[in-house]
Amino acid sequence: MGFLSGKRALIVGLATDRSIAWGIAQAMHREGAELAFAHIERMTDRVVPLARQLGSEITFVMDVAVDADIEKGFAFLKGHWPAFDILVHAVAFAPKDALTGEFIDATTRENFQTAHDISSYSLTALARAARPFMHERKGAMVALSYLGAVKSIPSYNVMGLAKASLEANVRFLAADLGPQGIRVNAISAGPIKTLSAAGIPGLRKMLTHVAAASPIKRNVTIEDVGNAAAFLCSDLAAGITGEVLYVDGGYHNVGMSFPADGDGA
Ligand code: NAD
Repeated sequence: MGFLSGKRALIVGLATDRSIAWGIAQAMHREGAELAFAHIERMTDRVVPLARQLGSEITFVMDVAVDADIEKGFAFLKGHWPAFDILVHAVAFAPKDALTGEFIDATTRENFQTAHDISSYSLTALARAARPFMHERKGAMVALSYLGAVKSIPSYNVMGLAKASLEANVRFLAADLGPQGIRVNAISAGPIKTLSAAGIPGLRKMLTHVAAASPIKRNVTIEDVGNAAAFLCSDLAAGITGEVLYVDGGYHNVGMSFPADGDGA
């Protein structure tokens, strides 16, 4: 019996079999959770067969930037599941020109608003919609962040600000929802080549740099992130909320990294 057996998880943000959401879905399925998936319309042909692979018949379109979509999506879900236990938020977006060139020039009012709306506000909106479903259950929510929330990273630009907002969002939601038995956490994942990440110029350099500098000497995988998310959303993590758990091979803890040559030079 898996450590998520008897739990139901809504996963928002599956696009392809390279998505972090896919690593999370696989880990949660392996641990016994039942799954439902919300996705953007454009991804329907990819998401439906992936969901079927994990025994899920519940998939629906929901653009998190549109309130009516969120309302419609949760109303549809209610028809299948009157209650569920886990919300996975694996959604982010910034226009391509916001991620090109220097932060100071690339950041406009418009792309600032878009990045924050889709990548951070959506967590508040989804948490509000999910709350009644988690009534009197040990609910758990998890969102995906990145090191750009706390450190400057070339090209990550306005998305770093949106992730900082997302992490603050997690802390405020954890405070509001904790008394109702619902925990809210984030995972700050190391870089992984997914559809969204491929839009960040210099991703290849990032992956090479992180693999060389991190204590585990490799990049993390969607399986690494999936296993951590499954744990955080399980009752095994009952004492953890408002936290940002780094699943980055220890990279964020390294101040400097080069081979020790021992000659005192
Ligand atoms: P991905 O492209 O597979 O997933 C991003 C998802 O966001 C897609 O499914 C996309 O359809 C969805 N999305 C975008 N706009 C949306 C909208 N308006 N409504 C609903 N869905 C929308 O990429 P990923 O890397 O798996 O990203 C998942 C999460 O992980 C994101 O929050 C991302 O910032 C975060 N993250 C990724 C990395 C990485 O290196 N890949 C590292 C740390 C954190």
